[in-house]
Amino acid sequence: MANKMDEKLQVVYQDVLKRNPGEVEFHQAVREVLESIGPVLSKYPEFREGKIIERIAEPERQIIFRVPWQDDRGEVQINRGFRVQYNSALGPYKGGLRFHPSVYLGIVKFLGFEQIFKNALTGLPIGGGKGGSDFDPKGKSDNEVMRFCQSFMTELWRHIGDVTDVPAGDIGVGGREIGYMFGQFKRLTARYEAGVLTGKGLDYGGSLVRTEATGYGATFFVQEMLKARGADTFEGKTCTVSGSGNVAIYTIEKIVQLGGKVVACSDSNGVIVDEKGIDLELVKQLKERERRRIKDYVEYRKHAKYLHGGNIWEVPCQVAMPSATQNEINGKDAALLVKNGCIAVGEGANMPTTPEGIKVFLDAKIAYGPGKAANAGGVATSALEMQQNATRDSWTFEYTEKRLANIMKTIHQNCWETAEEFGSKGNYVVGANIAGFIRVAKAMASHGLV
Ligand code: GLU
Repeated sequence: MANKMDEKLQVVYQDVLKRNPGEVEFHQAVREVLESIGPVLSKYPEFREGKIIERIAEPERQIIFRVPWQDDRGEVQINRGFRVQYNSALGPYKGGLRFHPSVYLGIVKFLGFEQIFKNALTGLPIGGGKGGSDFDPKGKSDNEVMRFCQSFMTELWRHIGDVTDVPAGDIGVGGREIGYMFGQFKRLTARYEAGVLTGKGLDYGGSLVRTEATGYGATFFVQEMLKARGADTFEGKTCTVSGSGNVAIYTIEKIVQLGGKVVACSDSNGVIVDEKGIDLELVKQLKERERRRIKDYVEYRKHAKYLHGGNIWEVPCQVAMPSATQNEINGKDAALLVKNGCIAVGEGANMPTTPEGIKVFLDAKIAYGPGKAANAGGVATSALEMQQNATRDSWTFEYTEKRLANIMKTIHQNCWETAEEFGSKGNYVVGANIAGFIRVAKAMASHGLV
């Protein structure tokens, strides 16, 4: 983005298209990175000679497996499980598991590819990976979810470990699912290997702040972007946050703590607009504790509006934080946001903006923080959880949050300075892609041809 892909990178990209037919989300993620890194290759010709880009584009290992389980009526169900161990140049593979009916290899590969650069940006020793299943947890009983998770782990356990591959949550995988998977891992291996999964419960090796980390981190990142635009802050700003899952909830919480006002959130069925400010305790009750849909918000808050099938990006805001899923902001949505006065976009979700949308934001010169930088706080805090597990320690909330805030500040600064160094001042897409890429590429170059 912002740069055109040079001819040699075009050849690499055509090869990616040919080798990975039909995986459109994966193509999109690769393309965005290749469009950014041209200038790096002029500076580091050894990356080209060592075919580092061709190697990065190809996952180290892709595992696909059958997950049979029984529903509450006793009927047998079959799902497909995935783990893509993408790149281990910087550390054990690290990245979440997504349980959602849309999951197929192309989604897991796009997420795994993004994760490589995101994890590199954290500065911590973690490689990139991702996994999941086309299992839909929506409407399933606790027992069904447990049986599914146990079956999923019955295959996955042999591929993971605290120094090989450390899964965590993503869409459809939270504390409940991690707990069931950890229990099954422990039973199958007869080992209490706490660092094999992150996002664990606080009573068995989880880290304080991990639950809040993605949303808090994304908000810290936007705070830094606002500061870089000239001492601006969240104070008094009208914000919209799409989604109402873990990332959205803790984004809303931190925005409010920093003096902003969130007037809309959503789920895949519709949008809640509450001009008085979204009642976060109510959203937590509905979504975290009762696992209900967001439309029920208006049962409790009569003044709020529910727009069934509505588009949250039509709600005017100064700061937009897409925190639902990929490609949720298209070119038209982006144009509307800019027209309505939006000055900053921070992506809590992975790749929520289409290439057309990104172009609109960059052309308008608003502060646009791409997911691999803005939402890196989640996985960074997972790495802090791994540190605590490795030393059998647990840190306080205050200390862990301070670590997270510093990491986000450093990521922002790194993206800002890298963009400037490579001639794209203020372009966080270029900054994030280049800074992440250089760290991984240097490590790969040191490891020889592996
Ligand atoms: N799924 C999250 C992400 O997209 C977190 C991954 C992790 O904590 O390992 O970065």
